[in-house]
Amino acid sequence: MGSLLQDKIAIVTGGGRGIGRAIVTEFINEGADVIIFDKVFPEDIDSYVSEQTAKGRKVALKTIDITKTNEVQNICDEVAKEFGRIDILVNNAGITRDKLMIRMSEEDWDAVLTVNLKGAFNTIKAVSRVMAKQRSGKIVNISSVVGVMGNAGQTNYSASKAGLIGLTKSVAKEFAGRNINVNAVAPGFVETEMTATLSEEQKNAFLSIIPLKRPSKPEEVAGVVAFLSSDKAGYITGQVLCIDGGMVM
Ligand code: NAD
Repeated sequence: MGSLLQDKIAIVTGGGRGIGRAIVTEFINEGADVIIFDKVFPEDIDSYVSEQTAKGRKVALKTIDITKTNEVQNICDEVAKEFGRIDILVNNAGITRDKLMIRMSEEDWDAVLTVNLKGAFNTIKAVSRVMAKQRSGKIVNISSVVGVMGNAGQTNYSASKAGLIGLTKSVAKEFAGRNINVNAVAPGFVETEMTATLSEEQKNAFLSIIPLKRPSKPEEVAGVVAFLSSDKAGYITGQVLCIDGGMVM
């Protein structure tokens, strides 16, 4: 157990499973209390929470759809009241609806942009007053390497993740005067349920352009997010850190 995030209060969206869950575990291991925002929690969530709280930290579950602007504001206000402050926000919730542009429906476009980009707008806006008043905060947005380099079959997803980078840099400039750091990470190919649906052909296409020749584990993303959420990263803002085995250099 470390103390990188000792006694920090963190919100992690989409923290029920995958990369989000790995971030929650890393945060708990580093001494934070975590509030997980998720639309649907998996069946094993209660045993996961018991395992984490046994380490002496708090884990709170909030069932919420991050696309609902007013609900997000209300829940963030509740969290601020209950926990006294909000030190860290990780925008991790995201979805894919992959299709070639020619076959992509308006619904596919809207769904992905609304969760991945508007969702982050909602949460950032909802915590901004609290963080500004505290004159401290760390926001980490989980973008993707395809937001940097594009990807055939993922125009909606790539656009949402590129949008998240623009959001990160703009908010970093707006919030810097309040001592709030805003950064993004751009993971490459991470082994989670989201990528389990990729075909062997798609997986091999990714592996062929990854210099480290392997996918990453969610924990390898979580460690970087914990660092960027910590006081050790106090002089880093508006950056996009690729965690991609060298795919983008
Ligand atoms: P995942 O599908 O395993 O988990 C996503 C989580 O977000 C789920 O718990 C889901 O319930 C939640 N979620 C979805 N829509 C939501 C909504 N409207 N409101 C609240 N919660 C919602 O995905 P993952 O692989 O763990 O990915 C996590 C993040 O990392 C995503 O933003 C994804 O785009 C990004 N990412 C993943 C990879 C990868 O290879 N897996 C690569 C780059 C970036």
